[in-house]
Parts: sequence; structure tokens; C-alpha cells
Amino acid sequence: MSGATQIHPSVDHGIKPSSASFAGGTLACKCAQNPVKVAIKGQIAYDHACGCTKCWKPEGAIFSVVAVVPRDNLSVVENGNKLSIVDPNAVIHRYACKECGVHMYGRIENKNHPFYGFDFVHPERFQEQGWAPPEFAAFVSSVIEAGVSPDRMGAIRGRLKELGLEPYDCLSPPLMDAIATHIAKASGALPN
Ligand SMILES: [Zn+2]
Ligand SMILES: [Zn+2]
Repeated sequence: MSGATQIHPSVDHGIKPSSASFAGGTLACKCAQNPVKVAIKGQIAYDHACGCTKCWKPEGAIFSVVAVVPRDNLSVVENGNKLSIVDPNAVIHRYACKECGVHMYGRIENKNHPFYGFDFVHPERFQEQGWAPPEFAAFVSSVIEAGVSPDRMGAIRGRLKELGLEPYDCLSPPLMDAIATHIAKASGALPN
């Protein structure tokens, strides 16, 4: 499919469905020697393509693929000494392998953040098949910030729709509603 708009290697040739028997697995970085391994219990949620400039992307991809898991379901099981936080001042502490650069998980330490309690992972690093596929595309316009020509946005949004990944320039409506609800409960605009 030369000439086709490449979104991400895990979706460019069609999106693989999830498996009902998927009960979690192990994420591995790209190191051939002593890879970092992170065990995940259970299925991932809110899997999506993300166009922001902070998410880790494989070589050549315009988007990342990123999902969440409850933080209690995630544990570093091998070679955690190779991890370091990409930007300690960012809201999300992204733990990356110092050798190969793959982000193994992102964690929010601010207990008041709407997504506190959830870690961000890149499911393509699972060594197992059957993880829930991406459902939508977030921060689509942000790919321009990474150097994608604005002229290409029509083709990119068209390809995302063709793949069934509805393009949004922020997060999806359910996630934006969840953030707004959290803020309204914190301010008292909505009852707790
Ligand atoms: Zn590595
Ligand atoms: Zn992102």
C-alpha cells in the first residue's frame, strides 16, 4: 500500500479484534538484551491512537497507540533499573527504557488529576495478542506540531475514519465528559 497514509504499524493493515480470553500479558521494550518487562493484569481500556507530541511512537508512525490500565494492575517485573522518567516536571511521568527509548508506562502522581489511578501503556509492546484495539483517535491536529504538513490533514482524518478511528482534536467525548465531571465535583458545581 505505498502512498497510503501511514497511521501506526499496528493499525495500517487493519485493526485486529480483541480476544475474550485475553487476561493481560507482558509489555517488553525493544532491547535484544535484558529487555525491560512490565506485567499487566487484565484487559486494557480506552485504547486509542494519539497524535500528541509526548507519547512514544515507533519509527515512522504519525500516531502512538496508547491505552490505560488501573495502576494496581501494572508491575515492573524485569530490568526496571533501565527505566528513567522522561520529564519529571510533566503531569504524566513517562518511564522510558534508557537504552532503546521505548516508553514502558506513564503514571500520574497528582491525586487530584482526573486520571489519577490509571497508568498509560503502549499495547503494541505486549508479547501476547488479543489486547483491545484502538477505538478512536485523539489530539489529531497535534501531529502538525510534530512536523506533519497541514496539507495532509484531510487524508489523515479520512484514513482514520476509514479505519473506524473517529478523529478528535482533544480526547473522545466520554473522556472529555469524565474530565469535566471531575472538575465540576471538585469545584462544587456538581454534587459529589
Ligand atoms: Zn529497552
Ligand atoms: Zn499522546
